Amino acid sequence: MDFDFTEEQVKFREKAREFAEREFSSEVARKFDREEKYPEEIRKKAYAEHVIDYSDPWKVLIAIEELCRQDAGLGISATVPYFGEEVIMLFGSDHLKEKYLQPVNEGKSLMGLAVTEPGGGSDVAGLKTTARKEGKNYIINGAKMFITNGSIADFFVMLVRTSEEEKRHHGLSAFVVESRFPGFKANKLKGKLGVRATDTAELELNNVVVPEENLIGEEGKGFYYIMTFFNISRIFVAGQGIGIAQGAFDRALSILRRKGKAYSEKEEIQFAVAEMATQIQAARLITYKAASYLFNFKPDPTITSMAKKYAAETAVFVAEKALEVTGVDGISSDLERFYRDAKILEIWEGTSEVEKLIISRNILKEAQ
Ligand SMILES: Cc1cc2nc3c(=O)[nH]c(=O)nc-3n(C[C@H](O)[C@H](O)[C@H](O)COP(=O)(O)OP(=O)(O)OC[C@H]3O[C@@H](n4cnc5c(N)ncnc54)[C@H](O)[C@@H]3O)c2cc1C
Repeated sequence: MDFDFTEEQVKFREKAREFAEREFSSEVARKFDREEKYPEEIRKKAYAEHVIDYSDPWKVLIAIEELCRQDAGLGISATVPYFGEEVIMLFGSDHLKEKYLQPVNEGKSLMGLAVTEPGGGSDVAGLKTTARKEGKNYIINGAKMFITNGSIADFFVMLVRTSEEEKRHHGLSAFVVESRFPGFKANKLKGKLGVRATDTAELELNNVVVPEENLIGEEGKGFYYIMTFFNISRIFVAGQGIGIAQGAFDRALSILRRKGKAYSEKEEIQFAVAEMATQIQAARLITYKAASYLFNFKPDPTITSMAKKYAAETAVFVAEKALEVTGVDGISSDLERFYRDAKILEIWEGTSEVEKLIISRNILKEAQ
């Protein structure tokens, strides 16, 4: 067991931190949060400076952590242009990889993953958007809800129903759907609690004609492809959690320093600092354990769900505690944004309840 990062990874962390501190000043973060604007220029800069380096998944995790440590809205915006790319990478044809992934990897195009519908996100097998085969095309009708990059992405990996089966999830298939296809409409959503610099939209699909070569893998296997993807992406959400928790903790310590020694020596402040630091350390360890299994091609979905759930809850816990120990100083600082930003981590890519169901089902199945 080795707990150390390589020298190259340590240097990369410094580079990511330097980028975030330089580009995500308080003023900039507040502006994008207030205006609910996607930071396209910052995304391009992060790409140009190789802050997102797909040659090493550890570097992706490190970048997510360091960018979210400075600001989650900007950090997530800069690190999700590729959201859903693993589905095409793992299950798509060479044609799809070349046509769609190449421009994304060259920073020229943006993508998203559309699963959730107005009727709900947790019950993925219950989704209602349909794709009907007609000649060499599929015709898609329905709606998607709360889709990240929804109004800015060039295309989406979209999960839809291609048949009614006794086991509902057997009737789902994944497609690449371009936003320029006639019948596709995106409506940007505003007024989110947090991560307001990220783009979120609802999607309408009215008789959208999708060529059959845009089917990813096989018909009826989409549910499996998306669940495989979540077992990857949850680790990166856990990275967002460590970043937000660490960033809130950094800010709390800096306010405590300003408040002076006597204030910090109060027992309740000391206990809160110890609890925050311990939970961040534990979240980091479980996330790195889940990541090391995945990055060595031996993913463990139980540990992955534990990491996602625990790191998300740690972000919420630390952001709240940080406000408690800093009082008025905290509430009027960037900590209020960390507090609002943290909550989404307990919701997307599987709510904490869904993660608990996955963890307990896997453990109970093994026990039998
Ligand atoms: C800012 C933002 C960005 C998002 N980006 C994307 C995206 O890019 N792509 C995408 O597809 N989706 C996206 N989502 C949607 C997100 O994944 C869903 O919100 C999430 O899956 C939960 O679905 P829901 O909100 O419909 O809640 P529901 O599924 O309706 O759940 C409501 C509540 O019931 C609980 N619950 C549900 N089922 C069970 C159960 N069986 N047992 C116990 N409790 C249960 C849940 O935990 C939750 O507390 C995004 C959401 C937000 C807010």
